Amino acid sequence: MTQFAEVILPLALPQNFTYGIPLPLQNEVAVGKRVVVQFGKRKLYTALVARIVDQAPEGFTPKPILEVEDQKPIVSETQLKLWSWISEYYLCTKGEVMTAALPAGLKLESETRVVPNRLKKVIDEELTDHEYLIIEALQSQDGLSIKEIADITEVKNPLRIIQNLLGKHYILLEEELKTGYTPKKRRYARLKTGISDVALNEIFASLHRAPKQANLLLTYFKMGGSLAETPEFLASRLLKQSEAGESALKSLEEKGVFELFYEKEITKQSGVESAKNLKPLSNEQEQAFDQVKQSFESKSACLLHGVTSSGKTEIYVKLIAEQLKAKKQVLYLVPEIALTTQLIKRLRHYFGEAVLVYHSRFSDRERVEAWMDLRQNATSPKLIVGARSSLFLPFGALGLIIVDEEHESSFKQYDPAPRYHARDTAIVLGQLHKAKVLLGSATPAFETYFNAKQGKYGHVLLNKRFGDLPLPEIQCIDLKEAHRKKKMRGHFSETLLEEIEGTVKGGKQVILFQNRRGFNSMIQCRNCGTVNQCKNCDISLTYHKHIDLLRCHYCGFTRQVPPKCPACGSIELKPLGFGTEKLEEDLSLMLPGIRVKRMDLDTTRKKYAYENLISDFEDGEIDVLVGTQMVTKGLDFENVSLVGIMNADTLLNFPDFRAHERAFQLMAQVAGRAGRKGTRGKVLIQTSNPYHHTIRKVMENNYTAMFEEEVYERKNYKYPPYYRLLRITLKHRKREVLLEESKALGKRLRQRFGERILGPEFPLVPRLRNFYIMEIWLKMEGGISPHKAKHTLRALTEHYFQHEAQHKLQLVFDVDPL
Ligand code: ADP
Ligand code: ZN
Ligand code: ZN
Repeated sequence: MTQFAEVILPLALPQNFTYGIPLPLQNEVAVGKRVVVQFGKRKLYTALVARIVDQAPEGFTPKPILEVEDQKPIVSETQLKLWSWISEYYLCTKGEVMTAALPAGLKLESETRVVPNRLKKVIDEELTDHEYLIIEALQSQDGLSIKEIADITEVKNPLRIIQNLLGKHYILLEEELKTGYTPKKRRYARLKTGISDVALNEIFASLHRAPKQANLLLTYFKMGGSLAETPEFLASRLLKQSEAGESALKSLEEKGVFELFYEKEITKQSGVESAKNLKPLSNEQEQAFDQVKQSFESKSACLLHGVTSSGKTEIYVKLIAEQLKAKKQVLYLVPEIALTTQLIKRLRHYFGEAVLVYHSRFSDRERVEAWMDLRQNATSPKLIVGARSSLFLPFGALGLIIVDEEHESSFKQYDPAPRYHARDTAIVLGQLHKAKVLLGSATPAFETYFNAKQGKYGHVLLNKRFGDLPLPEIQCIDLKEAHRKKKMRGHFSETLLEEIEGTVKGGKQVILFQNRRGFNSMIQCRNCGTVNQCKNCDISLTYHKHIDLLRCHYCGFTRQVPPKCPACGSIELKPLGFGTEKLEEDLSLMLPGIRVKRMDLDTTRKKYAYENLISDFEDGEIDVLVGTQMVTKGLDFENVSLVGIMNADTLLNFPDFRAHERAFQLMAQVAGRAGRKGTRGKVLIQTSNPYHHTIRKVMENNYTAMFEEEVYERKNYKYPPYYRLLRITLKHRKREVLLEESKALGKRLRQRFGERILGPEFPLVPRLRNFYIMEIWLKMEGGISPHKAKHTLRALTEHYFQHEAQHKLQLVFDVDPL
């Protein structure tokens, strides 16, 4: 062997590994292609070629590459550069980045299990002999591991065969099997295309004995329908407005007046170059749009700082249209896939088939297809909408990245590594492609605002809501006073209850925000104060009524509610605190007849559950939507006029230096859901702390003052945006070992970094999933090179990552933790 390849294995290994390139494969191996290699005793892996070198590695004879999987590289050099940056900046391995970056279907390994796709009819001619053997075996078995497949086919490396079968849709990877929930389909009606003026008049004349049908037809025109444009309306809305029934609608369909169809078919094929249906921008929007473009001339990133409902999305749309026209790609990052439902519909309306969606709720096959599509059509203009992992897609002609709701903490990956921040990584990705980056928010992260103020990013303001709508009126309800005056019913002040009732009676909708799910936040003994705790974590269990169990929100452990206190035996157990589940139940009891639904992690686990809730709320089938922070983000409902924040205190009292920033963002964002169309919205905040400066700033809608006050404190106490943080989490099953080892590491780090090291200390939850936890923090001031500091840190902790260090503690680095 005269050539060698450094490959990245999808494992948390500290370095790349070198394999030999056998002569027959020499023309095939290339950077960015996948190869099959053996690692460990008998394990096969898909690895990615990162570099080709002529020099043999020193000290060992490399094993050979067994097979090359790709004809063309599936990962570009630019992508590899991004991987390198991430692994260096966030102190993780390239293998970890690779694992996060590639969809599972692109990185098969021996342990991967494949299962038959029962929906696919077997056509013998489509299969090679090897493939046939596998499919035959799968007829009688639920699944096969790749090792088993190797035995059946007597092929040593069957990965390529499996790839082919995946491509032909005969098999699925086990992890992509998901519950087969279907989205609720929304039905639309529109005038039959091509129906003539004359025909319509004739039919209308014949309807004098069918007043319901006549009314239905009239309503269609009243709602803005016309012969020339035949727009579609939601069938349920049409029926409600006209007070006609289903049979009337059906009759009109049979007579050829209306056509009825389901959602999916609306997306009309539209040429990529010609975005359709673009709305003309208002003067303010137009001005902001020009300023963004101007800023892009000298800076690569720009903050679009626009109040809620100022029409930021429409500005993005116009920027996207320009990029697509110039045959460029656009990446539109959203903090959570939950948010995409409404957005995708809006974007498809403008850009049709140019929109490509990529997120974790998609099946792996869909993700592989999206990847390959982009890779093969590297320069075709596309709008890619996705959550943070779409940063890893193979872009060829990226012109613009939009980070919407850039302040959202879900842009930061928490676990596992790479613990990257999608906004910050987007800036780097933008530089690699010479693309522009637009960060949009009504409540920017303080770091971002700071950068904009420093001139690092451009800064464009949009202070008015679209259509000159006023921002909602925000009032506080003093909980202490309400309690004293006996004006509380459960967790609702009478004022809030009355407002909810009035709003719903007036035909409007309500959003209620509570930062906790479940029924009660804990159950405590009245006698001795003992709280039921998780057996794996040092945290109290939350009571969930629908399952009648106590549950840990960290590890998922559940147990029955004990009949008596485990400590003292008293049977007087008192529920404390309240979550969304209780609110939903209480409100339904207090205001019978009002339709209340809940949106939180528990009600949105199933596929499409979220979409269905949103469309039910849009269609007016829900009056009050109770939810956790899920309801605060970017949603655009036109009929919501009241927002209630059930308890601001829990937000304000959270022990974290970002608590006030977060509380401000959450409250301002959820308030922003009110009054987006028509009349001015109203927001009621229940709190026992009505003069808290954060609440005052929310009421005044004064972001700038909030920022100034908070960053003053941050500077004093050495926090971001003035200082950079790096958190080292140390874990061990044994408390004593953890204490001792952490102390030793803390000491060693202090010798090197001095005062910049804080801890070790126990965090808020000192035990999780049976691991004891301590934290050490590194604070880096503006002057020092974080790159060097990280390098030093790596060197000082290297021995923890060696194989033989298993008994030692586990170390986790989190750079710029949130
Ligand atoms: P933001 O993203 O700033 O919260 P949106 O872009 O969602 O605001 O706009 C708020 C509402 O105003 C949306 O319902 C949107 O359709 C409407 N809107 C915004 N700009 C325009 C425009 N130029 N023409 C018509 N409607 C607009
Ligand atoms: Zn737990
Ligand atoms: Zn007790």
